[in-house]
Amino acid sequence: MSKMPIIQVFALGGTIAMTPGAAPGVTPSLSAEALVAAVPGLEKVAVIQAKTLANIGSANITIDRIAKLCAAAEAAVAAGCDGIIVTQGTDTLEESAFLASLMYKGSKPLVFTAAMRAATHPGADGPANLYNAVLVAVSGKAAGVSVVMGPKIHDPWQVSKEHTYELDAFDSSHGGPIGYIVEGAIQMHRQSTPLVKVDLAGKPAAPVALVSASFDGDIKILEALPSLGYKGVVIEAFGAGHLSEVWADAAEALLAHMPVLLATRVSEGPVLENSYGYKGAEIDLINRGLIPCGPLRSRKARLLLSLLLAEGGDWKAKFKEGVKAF
Ligand code: ASP
Repeated sequence: MSKMPIIQVFALGGTIAMTPGAAPGVTPSLSAEALVAAVPGLEKVAVIQAKTLANIGSANITIDRIAKLCAAAEAAVAAGCDGIIVTQGTDTLEESAFLASLMYKGSKPLVFTAAMRAATHPGADGPANLYNAVLVAVSGKAAGVSVVMGPKIHDPWQVSKEHTYELDAFDSSHGGPIGYIVEGAIQMHRQSTPLVKVDLAGKPAAPVALVSASFDGDIKILEALPSLGYKGVVIEAFGAGHLSEVWADAAEALLAHMPVLLATRVSEGPVLENSYGYKGAEIDLINRGLIPCGPLRSRKARLLLSLLLAEGGDWKAKFKEGVKAF
C-alpha cells in the first residue's frame, strides 16, 4: 500500500468555523480538528494534521499573522508535510492568499479555503470546500499558493470576493479560475502567476495608504498623508486610471514624499497607459511619475508596495516585474 500524503490544516477562523452562540449571529468557535472531523471521507485521501492558529473574523488578520503562517507552513513542509491548507474568513481571503503568494517559500502546495455559510447552516459549504482544497493539495497540480472555493481553483493575484452572501461569491479576473475540481479530479487550465517573492526578514511592513478617488472629492486626505507617516500610497482612480485635475496635482505633490501608485476602482481590466491625453488622465499621471498597477487590484497593490518598501532594494523594478508577469 502506498503511503498516504500528509496534509497540515491551519485554521484562522471565519464563517467556516462559525456557529450561533448566546448573542445574535454566528461567531468563530470551531477548532481546526472540528473542521476536519466534519468532512466525510477525508481520511481516505490524506493523513490530516490540524492546528488552530486563531479563531477570528478575517478583518482582524494582519500582515504579520500571514508572515507567521507562512513560516509555520514552511516548517510543516520541512517536517514532511505534502501540502498545507489554510481555512479563514472569506472577507479577506484574497489578501491573505496574495500575501502568502509573496512570502511563502515552501516547496509544497499551500491552499486557502473558506465558506460562505456557517458550519451549522443547512447546506454549509465548508466541508466540501475543505475536501476540495485537500484534493488540490494532494494532487500537487496547483503549484505554489492557490485558493479553492467550490469546484474552482483561483490564482491569488486574480481572485476576489464579489458577492456578500451568494455561495459562488469568488471570481478571477482575466480568464477565470486557473483550474477546477471535477468528479474529484484536478483539471488545471494554467498555473498561478509567476511570483515575485518578498523576504521581510522579520521587518514590519511599511505603512501604505489606499485612497479612492471620489466624485467631486476634495484633496484633504492626500495632503495629510506625509504628516501621517505613510511611506506610500495607492490611488484608486476612476476608469482606466483617471483623476480630476486637482487630484492629479495633489498626487504629483505627494511624489516628493512617497511613491504613488495608480490603480483603478473598476473591477475588471488594467489601468491603461497610452489612451487618454487630457490633464489627469493616465498618460499625464504616468508622465508625472505615478506608477500604473496594470490589472492588479488596488488592495493587493497596496500590500505588494508595503512589503517591497519594507524589504528594501529596488522596489520599483520588482513591483513592475510583478505587475507585468500578472
Ligand atoms: N466575516 C467572515 C470573515 O471573513 C465572513 C466569512 O468568513 O465568510 O471572517
